[in-house]
Formats: sequence, structure tokens, C-alpha cells
Amino acid sequence: MTASIVKMARVNPMDYYGLEDELPDDAKTVRDAAKEFVRKEILPHIQRWDKGDLAPFNNHEEFVRETARKIGRQLGLFGISLKNLGHYLDDPQFEPVSSTAYGVAMREFEYADSTLRSLASVQSSLSMFAIDRYGSEEQKKRWLPLLHRGEKIACFGLTEPQGGSDPGNMKTTASRRGEAWVLNGTKVWITNGFADVAIVWAKTPDGIRGFLVEKGTPGFSHRSEEKWTFRAGIASSLYFSNCEIPASSLLPVTESPPGKDLAAPLSCLSEARYSICWGVVGAARACYEEALKTAQSRIMFEVPLAQKQEMQRKLVWCLNEIENAQMVALRLGRLKDAGRISYAHISLAKYNNVARSCKVARLAVEMLPADVFTFDAYHSGRHFRNLEVVKKYEGTHEVHTLIVGREITGFNAF
Ligand SMILES: Cc1cc2nc3c(=O)[nH]c(=O)nc-3n(C[C@H](O)[C@H](O)[C@H](O)COP(=O)(O)OP(=O)(O)OC[C@H]3O[C@@H](n4cnc5c(N)ncnc54)[C@H](O)[C@@H]3O)c2cc1C
Repeated sequence: MTASIVKMARVNPMDYYGLEDELPDDAKTVRDAAKEFVRKEILPHIQRWDKGDLAPFNNHEEFVRETARKIGRQLGLFGISLKNLGHYLDDPQFEPVSSTAYGVAMREFEYADSTLRSLASVQSSLSMFAIDRYGSEEQKKRWLPLLHRGEKIACFGLTEPQGGSDPGNMKTTASRRGEAWVLNGTKVWITNGFADVAIVWAKTPDGIRGFLVEKGTPGFSHRSEEKWTFRAGIASSLYFSNCEIPASSLLPVTESPPGKDLAAPLSCLSEARYSICWGVVGAARACYEEALKTAQSRIMFEVPLAQKQEMQRKLVWCLNEIENAQMVALRLGRLKDAGRISYAHISLAKYNNVARSCKVARLAVEMLPADVFTFDAYHSGRHFRNLEVVKKYEGTHEVHTLIVGREITGFNAF
């Protein structure tokens, strides 16, 4: 006997298909904690921070460091899905969470601001993952606990001025000087470039390898960019000029067969791209929620704007895309938790979820009144600006098109 369609209470306009019920228990717990964190610590201040008023912090670095410490203390979220983290924390009670749970936390972070999700992605998915996967025991023991607690900050330096889309054309070099390595080159647009430790990718005579470079090493400096988006975050250029680092700075497991030496940095990017696929659903939800609530209460031509067909067409488009993006993220989480995810799955998900979230944010800006162009009245304008960065970094929309195109046709069109 087939079950009939039952008449139920009105569907939830913020969770139309009830996908929250599909989350595993650990994801629900992490979701609620992350939601509470952003409600208390981020949402009341983010518009002011985005505008440039960072009080009570004196500068961006102080702001990022204090936020990371709070995330460490209150959520213990950095690197929380790494299977072996408990061993390095010397904490037998530590239980890693599922990748789905981690993804849901990224969604709640990006509901507040993409820079918050970016801080977590760079710390956990790019940096801690790189150290965990490619580091020595000594490097893991030293850095993983500090980074997990947010007591130290890490950054990930891959992009160079001649083009982030083609990392194989890397100019930064690492050459041997006795037992030491000497770095020369420039990295650009590096999130949290002020970090305590930079994971730097450089060309050696044996191919591209990863190195840990500590803040304050002679010959290593950084300079922050001024930008009109991602304003609550920092991106910097890193400069290496005859920067000598000890032999122990090399991430030893980054060794790859000739021609495959980009596999290590690209595997880290896949982790961060995964968190983006979840994160942007949060930003899109924030925009849709704001546009919907405003349309329900703003009276135009004597009725609420939400009563207008043109408005409903846009709202339904947004809802549909957000629910679809959420289903993609959920599927991605299940594939990752089952150990069956490929970088090509992640590329199609980033391609879809980011582009659709950008369009949701643009439609929200259209649906909201002119105050959306101020820093204070609404959140959608900020998400609209931020999401354009998310479309460009971690592989541009075009790069992901070409990755998926190569996967399905067998032809490389880069
Ligand atoms: C706020 C911010 C934070 C960032 N954080 C980091 C970080 O922490 N670490 C890091 O290493 N990098 C980081 N990046 C850099 C980012 O990953 C690069 O900007 C991105 O990879 C694009 O590289 P590019 O800017 O050099 O653009 P380019 O590679 O020069 O691309 C320019 C345009 O050409 C297109 N294009 C390129 N190749 C092709 C092709 N074959 N066919 C068709 N079109 C093509 C691109 O899609 C794009 O539209 C960050 C960037 C920003 C803005």
C-alpha cells in the first residue's frame, strides 16, 4: 500500500523540505552551538566591523586573533573532523565529528559572514589538514593543539601574482643551503597573512613541496591589501627574500611522483572547497530570510510587497535554489563521511552552490529598499559583496567548469 499525501501544517519557509531532520545527531549538536555562537558573538557587531569600526579591537589582526580564540574556547571547532586530532591533543575523550557536522557549522558561520567561515576554512581545512596529512610527528605535536584551540593562527600560501588559476606556473623557489632551505618569491591574496605559521608551497629541484614558515623568520614579511569586500577579514601578500628555514620546516609527506606534485596542495584546496559548498548556503539563507521578512512587512501600493507576483517569483526562485544547494551539500557530506568523495564532486558542488548563492544575494539586493546600500540597515549587501570573492577564490567558477568538463568529456580544456 502506498502512503497518501497528508495534509500537514504549513511548510517551513526556511527549511522547505525539512532537510534539517536529515542531519546526523552530531551535526545537529554542532549546528546549534555554531548558531548560538554567531548569534551572540558575531551578528550584533558584523555590520560595524565590515564598515571598518573594529572596536573593541585596535586592528584587524587583534580582531581575527580574538575571534579565533573564542571559536577555540567556546566551540573547539578548528580541525574537529580530523580523525587523529585526539591523539595530538592528548585527550582520550576527544571524538571527531562527521564531515557533515563540520559542513553544517560552516553554513552557520557564513550565515553571519563569509570572512568567519573563511577563518575556519583556512585554519582547519587548509592548514591543519595540510599539517595532519603531510607533516612530521613533531610538526603535528607542535602545531595541531595550538591551532585547534585558536591560540595560534595559520595561513596557506599558494597563489602568486602571475595567476592563481595556474599554480603549476609557480615562481617561488626553495633551494638547499647545507641542511637548511632558502625561500625566494611572492605569494598574494593570502588570508590571515599575519599568521604565526605560514604553509608555503614552493618549487624545489624535486618538484613542488610544502614548508612551514614561522612569523618573524628573517627574510619573510607581509603586507595587507585594502579591499571593498571581505572587509572583516585580512588578505596579504607574503614576501620571501633569501628566507632561510631549517630542514625540519619541510612537510615531509608532500613528496609526489614527478608531474603529480600539485596533488598535495590541491588536496588541501578540496577540503576548503568542501566547506565553501556548505558555507554559501548559509549566506544565501541569510539574504533570502531578510528579503522575505522585509517583503512581508513593507507596504507598497497599500499591501505588503510579498503580495506582489513579481516579488513572489523572485522569492520562490531563491528558496528553490537554496533548497537544491542544501541537498547538494548534504549529499557531499554523506559521500565524504563514507570516504567516497572525489575532487570532481566538490568542483560541481562549488560551481553550483556558489553561483546560485551569488544570484540569491543579488536578488535580495533587488528586493530590498535603497537602504540596502548602507552598511547598517541590512546584511544582504555585505553578503552580495562577499560572495563575489567566494566565486573567485578556491578555484574560480571557470576553473571548476573546466574541472567538471574534463571529468565528463575526458578532454582537458584548461
Ligand atoms: C579575499 C581573498 C582571499 C584569498 N585567500 C587565499 C589564500 O588564503 N591562499 C591562497 O593561496 N590564495 C588565496 N586567494 C587567492 C585566490 O585563490 C585567487 O584569487 C584565485 O585562485 C584566482 O586567481 P587570480 O586572482 O590570480 O585570477 P586569475 O587566475 O588570473 O584568473 C583571472 C580570470 O581568468 C579566468 N581563467 C583562468 N584560467 C582560465 C582558463 N583556462 N579558461 C578560462 N578562464 C580562465 C579565471 O576564471 C578568472 O575569471 C584569495 C583571494 C581573495 C580575493
